[in-house]
Amino acid sequence: MPSIEEIKKSVISKLRYSLCLELESATNADIFNALALTLRDYQLDGFFNTRKVQKATKSKRLYYLSMEFLLGQSLRNNLTNVGLLQQAKQAIEELGFDFEQITAEEPDAALGNGGLGRLAACFIDSMATLDIAASGHGIKYEYGLFKQVIQNNKQVEQPDDWHSTHSPWLIEHHSQLMLIPIGGHIEEGEDSEGNYNPMWMDWKVLVGIPHDYLVTGYGGKTVNTLRLYSAGASDSFDVHIFNRGDYLRAVSEKIASENISKILYPADEIQSGKELRLTQEYFLVACTLRDIFHDYAQISSDITALPDSVAIQLNDTHPALAIVEMMRVLVDEHRLDWAVAWGITQKTCAFTNHTLMPEALETWPVALFEKLLPRHLQIIYEINHRFLDEVAEKWPDKPHLLASLSLFEERGEKKVRMANLAIVGSHKVNGVAKLHSELITQTLVPDFYFITPEKFTNQTNGVTPRRWLQQANPNLATFLTRQLGNGWVTDLDKLQRLKKLAKDSGVVEEIQAIKLKNKQALCRQIAAQQGVQLDPLAMFDCQVKRIHEYKRQLLNILHVIHAYLEIVESGHTQAPKVHLFAGKAAPGYAMAKLIIQLINEVARKVNSDPRTKGQLSVLFLEDYKVSLAEHIIPATDLSEQISTAGTEASGTSNMKFAMNGALTIGTLDGANIEIRDAVGEENFYLFGANADEINTHRQAGSHNRIYQNNDPAINRAVEALISGRFNADTSIFWPIYHMLTEGDHYCHLLDFDSYRIAQQQAQADFSQQLQWHQRALLNIANMGSFSSDRTIKGYATEIWGIGS
Ligand SMILES: *Cc1c(COP(=O)(O)O)cnc(C)c1O
Repeated sequence: MPSIEEIKKSVISKLRYSLCLELESATNADIFNALALTLRDYQLDGFFNTRKVQKATKSKRLYYLSMEFLLGQSLRNNLTNVGLLQQAKQAIEELGFDFEQITAEEPDAALGNGGLGRLAACFIDSMATLDIAASGHGIKYEYGLFKQVIQNNKQVEQPDDWHSTHSPWLIEHHSQLMLIPIGGHIEEGEDSEGNYNPMWMDWKVLVGIPHDYLVTGYGGKTVNTLRLYSAGASDSFDVHIFNRGDYLRAVSEKIASENISKILYPADEIQSGKELRLTQEYFLVACTLRDIFHDYAQISSDITALPDSVAIQLNDTHPALAIVEMMRVLVDEHRLDWAVAWGITQKTCAFTNHTLMPEALETWPVALFEKLLPRHLQIIYEINHRFLDEVAEKWPDKPHLLASLSLFEERGEKKVRMANLAIVGSHKVNGVAKLHSELITQTLVPDFYFITPEKFTNQTNGVTPRRWLQQANPNLATFLTRQLGNGWVTDLDKLQRLKKLAKDSGVVEEIQAIKLKNKQALCRQIAAQQGVQLDPLAMFDCQVKRIHEYKRQLLNILHVIHAYLEIVESGHTQAPKVHLFAGKAAPGYAMAKLIIQLINEVARKVNSDPRTKGQLSVLFLEDYKVSLAEHIIPATDLSEQISTAGTEASGTSNMKFAMNGALTIGTLDGANIEIRDAVGEENFYLFGANADEINTHRQAGSHNRIYQNNDPAINRAVEALISGRFNADTSIFWPIYHMLTEGDHYCHLLDFDSYRIAQQQAQADFSQQLQWHQRALLNIANMGSFSSDRTIKGYATEIWGIGS
């Protein structure tokens, strides 16, 4: 390990010889870059070492394919995992810079929308920490998720140029660029032995350029990679156009190819349906498979043994074309018999489903496939044909199975069903929480469960305790290490030993003091950024996540409206409470954007009303992202996890909050159920209908009857939306009013009263500070199984055949 002096010397040397700068003129951003480059050298030593070890031990390799990796900042994480945080801190201070300011210089890498992308980021951390030979594969978007600013109470989107070309973490491998065919048409043909041998002709070529981001496991022993591909155009592909002298067209086609990795699609839980998105998905898959076959060629020439050395995990259906591309390479290039190729593909691939929302299930028009990927479409037809023949033969008395199992949707415009493709081509299919995995088999794809029950399994999500506890909450981490030693960082079950301290009031007071410190820090940040002063002694009630109807930020704000009206109309008083919201809405999602506007209008009204002073504050924090989450979560008292039961596949922020000593107010949805089981029902505020009851309620068409039957508290809060109280234009929130009263699909009003009662209980309990923080301590102590290390061990043994 380098000394502080050595780090200082290296920083100065990086400034001078890599960045052409002298210390005297260096800005915080320059120091950030020089320190990152210094650190990267140590990571690289670990990387070469890891490669040698993995080669020598012939480790089975896992390829994690995801269209999103929501990494956030890397400096503190990499320093911690390499084991250089304290030395680097001191070195930077000795050079005359403020370490906190240096880390704050780093832009978040926001190559994802929300939970799905953040899960991928937690997983690569856990895989490296568990010394699994693994790599992540994704796209190096030039623009990550948009930056959100609030103007006139509304969300405005601005481009997120995260300056990836200058990122010190990304190592470009221009010499490894890969050629990816796209477009063209198929010419039927036969080979010399008379076998069917179609030729894919007249394709264009995209160029994939790999960039490696080093993923250092905790302790620094294993350094894996996250490989992100950017798209370019080959110099030769437009040679025909050049020859015809059409220079401008050749150049514009080049630009068009580069556009493929230009931008992350900003819609979460909804499919975009755009040609460019399908092209991105294919691009990721085609680049990754070139790497997989290239890596495999280094260790074996027996292609049939590939599943012994390679596992592929598909993060949702977005990379499901990997199944088809693998078949294409095996059949067309390796000339394998179809059935052999299919066996290899199925044994290698596994698929994680992330959603039950019908609007998020991917389907792509056959016409679009025909245009972009004619050979892949042929292969999908062949997979389907053989699969349905098998089903028909095995269940001759169940012909109805064929329509639901088919890889094609035949109603309306003919489409490829990506989920069906992913299930058929995989040996395992998993959901991300117990309830979710159950609902996959019962309601999403019951016919697939009927024909292949052994494929279906559960792997409940987790989060990495390195980022979400050790780094985000250094005050709590220091306390835990003092009490338990630092083993908890890689074995979170060790937190169990805190339980016996819960009766020690000195210990509980420490937990209380840590929370207060974190709240004070958040208050300072909010004061600096938004000019609002909050009371750190108030209860901090936080809902931070993508804005979506199913997540029910609307239920939360309706309850805030209720609390406000109780104060100003019913003369009620309440203990001080701060309601924090943050999250982005997809730019095309009108209802979600209107909910953001409502929250902001309510905040403006409530905060400026002298009657609520010292009782109620509401704030919407701009531009929710990983680095902001790291500040909010450790400062939260009450975590809002209030989705309609049966809609949130797992949730992961629910885990981050509880791990940091927040109590949860939540429904029986996703991983909330497992969290409640773990922390104890007395340490969790449960409310609302369960998934079955929601189903029954919807089937009975009772959506609006609740409103008509009417509870005066609900009535008053809902009518306030169109009263002009929050916006002089009474028509503004009409769409929300209309939805709630005439078709409340997410059952806000059904759960309102039960939510109100749970909120009241939490409010009352918060006044008993010692008991409250004792329960917070029990939450922390019982969160061991929500480490992504536990999740990855489950995938490794039950799905990938790695380890144990
Ligand atoms: C954890 C996380 C999410 C996921 O939050 P959910 O509440 O589980 O939807 C989304 N965005 C960011 C920045 C996160 O850190």
